[in-house]
Amino acid sequence: MSSLPKRPKRPKFSVPTAVLALPEPTLIGAVAPLPHEQLDVFRRDGHALIDWIADYWTALQQQPQQFRVMSAAKPGDVAAALPREIPQSGRPFAEVFAETHDAIMPGITHWQSPSFFAFFPANTSPPAVLGELFSAGLGVNGMLWATSPACTELEQHVLDQLAGLCGLPKKFMFASGTGGGVIQGTASEAAVVVMVAARKRLADRGSTGKPVVYCSTQAHSSIVKAAMITGIAAGPDDTVSVRQIPVDSARAMYPARLKEAIEQDLAAGRAPCMVTATLGTTSSLAFDDVLAIAAICRKHSVWLHVDSAMAGAAAVCPEFRWMLTGLEHVDSYCFNPHKWLLVNFDCDCLYIADKAALTSAMSITPEYLKNAASTAGAVVDYRDWQIPLGRRFRALKLHFVLQSYGIDGLRQYIREHVRLGAIFAALVKADARFELVDHSRGMNLICFRSRPLPNEKPEQTDVRTKALLDRINAGGHAYLTHTVIPYVVHGDPTARTVLRLSIGSTFTREQHVRATWEVICSQIQ
Ligand code: PLP
Repeated sequence: MSSLPKRPKRPKFSVPTAVLALPEPTLIGAVAPLPHEQLDVFRRDGHALIDWIADYWTALQQQPQQFRVMSAAKPGDVAAALPREIPQSGRPFAEVFAETHDAIMPGITHWQSPSFFAFFPANTSPPAVLGELFSAGLGVNGMLWATSPACTELEQHVLDQLAGLCGLPKKFMFASGTGGGVIQGTASEAAVVVMVAARKRLADRGSTGKPVVYCSTQAHSSIVKAAMITGIAAGPDDTVSVRQIPVDSARAMYPARLKEAIEQDLAAGRAPCMVTATLGTTSSLAFDDVLAIAAICRKHSVWLHVDSAMAGAAAVCPEFRWMLTGLEHVDSYCFNPHKWLLVNFDCDCLYIADKAALTSAMSITPEYLKNAASTAGAVVDYRDWQIPLGRRFRALKLHFVLQSYGIDGLRQYIREHVRLGAIFAALVKADARFELVDHSRGMNLICFRSRPLPNEKPEQTDVRTKALLDRINAGGHAYLTHTVIPYVVHGDPTARTVLRLSIGSTFTREQHVRATWEVICSQIQ
């Protein structure tokens, strides 16, 4: 690509001069003060680090030639650049930062680059980073309400607000009296805890059959993994305990096939335990029909969980709430503000309609955790809603983002990415060298591939498509990923390799989408 500037071989990011200018620690007697004894130094280092982050985000946008979006580091490169030993005496932070910076930056894939279009995004934003910092500074462990009441109460408050903002059913709010939300680290952890609750509910109803869980063939692997962790599945290939239901031409679960599978299992003496419907699958952003699936689950009293890890953020805009149809009939729902709602990793919001179903499955109270507020049943203890005991004050970053962007800012952000998705899809569609495979519901993920050449075998098109991806990513100007999805070609169902362009990075603008299209076009053969 001649139009793109040449990159230096090893991108270097200058350490802010303020960091380098920090004074050596003053000596008290013969012993150097420890870092927590030098809060003035911490203050200056901290300011300098915020400067560095602001400079980094600026450079990602204004000097993209300094960065390879996908790191070109080889295994072991970063490890080899790190200091061999822990020093006997502590070193000034400025020195540690400079050395660490130089060692790790070549091994950083720039998820915050505006030309990061791989996987699903992992957003961040200024208020989120400040919330993270605030949380780290307070350093509280919110395992119980009593261990820091603000940690629990802000989380309850913000999760209710977020449910309202996304138009979720009232039953998921604490205000309903029976439901509520909790911040989990990830959608994967959410899947584990709801599976534990679903299994407990099943056992409480007297079921003795072997539990079975269901999802579509397009559901995220975390659902199968949750079944492995909970012991429901013997391994990733246990197709008896995890039924992966076929999908239709839009790659959404066939409700009729789900019904069939549940009925077969009941007839065989097994115990249908939990169904996961996906709103926005990872490969192609397919949306399962929650309303139809919920009717089947209700009939057979099966727990229904809905995973909307990435796409769920779009529900802040009323025009995307079609995806939530039927949600009033589900038991649990989660989405990740750390994917597409400007909150840095980790922040998965899990909502439960019957919070007692979860806490009764997860609660255990040793003597040392007993306290008056918990015993009185007057408070929420989030330790009973998650796998670990301890928990960070993650609600701060979510709260800061919601308050700093406001409803209008969040909607504008989502809508802009959807607009960019439409621009990219139109570019692909208009170019005879490419095939637009999916632009699901006109949202922010576009699946495309090289158009088959005359007489080319499907596998050869796959190889060409994958080779195109490798050339794009090797160039360092943008980062895309691929997947294999069920695909109907001239009436024949098959599975084909496609490239995914996933729009959702905080700093992505139209110019980055268009420049990436230029890169793609320059690499097609
Ligand atoms: N569910 C879906 C639909 C996803 O796309 C992903 C990740 O991309 C996950 C779950 C897993 O997310 P997490 O990393 O939060 O566990």
